[in-house]
Amino acid sequence: MKLRKDDDFYTKVMKHISKVREQGEPPRSDVFELDTYICDLCKGSISKENLTQCPFCGRWICRKNCWDSEQMACTTCVGVIKLCRESVDIDIKQKREAGKKKEKPKKSTKVQKRPKYETLLGKLKKKKSKSIK
Ligand SMILES: [Zn+2]
Ligand SMILES: [Zn+2]
Repeated sequence: MKLRKDDDFYTKVMKHISKVREQGEPPRSDVFELDTYICDLCKGSISKENLTQCPFCGRWICRKNCWDSEQMACTTCVGVIKLCRESVDIDIKQKREAGKKKEKPKKSTKVQKRPKYETLLGKLKKKKSKSIK
């Protein structure tokens, strides 16, 4: 089950974050060393195992200095997330009150029509196939 609160929160945060990279875009590799990449934030060179992509801005960052495992985001995005978390709580309360308005129930207009000729044809075919024996 998906939580509505998380969806709202994510879109809210994304409005305040400028995407640096697309999800799945490869990280910048170190020119001098193999299997080493550059952290988009501290510009340090990191091995592949210590590299992670921020789900918000898309930056490739090092787990050591630039990743907040609690907020699941890079250190620049964490600041935005914290700010948004406060405002989202207010938003949800407002939305709940707005959603209290009653919706009109739709009238069901079901009209079933049976195609008579088709059933007749079916019967005829059955009779024929039996008689052909
Ligand atoms: Zn870093
Ligand atoms: Zn980020």
